[in-house]
Amino acid sequence: MYCTRCGLQLRDDDRFCSRCGSRTAVGRVVTAYHPLMLDKRNKKIGGVCAGFARYFEADVTLIRVLWLALALTTGVGFLAYLAAWLIMPSDYGSAERMPVAPEPAVR
Ligand SMILES: [Zn+2]
Repeated sequence: MYCTRCGLQLRDDDRFCSRCGSRTAVGRVVTAYHPLMLDKRNKKIGGVCAGFARYFEADVTLIRVLWLALALTTGVGFLAYLAAWLIMPSDYGSAERMPVAPEPAVR
């Protein structure tokens, strides 16, 4: 194993580089950080609800139901959806994702 910052050879169980102090893969805490992005893989319309579900680590169906309820009762949901759709970056082609074959168009 080599330090990703300075290239120093490290032992496989080293948590930090002894030269530069850079954290190694061993010491890295594995947390799934999900930036708020449109989830184009699990989308129904624009991927907004799926993106929020991923961000909050919530069930996408729950988010959709809540969002739809908000939209139908207040009307804010529609505008919020459009705004989020326009503002949120798309995760399509994001490098952190596993490569997936594009979904075939359903007709
Ligand atoms: Zn180093």
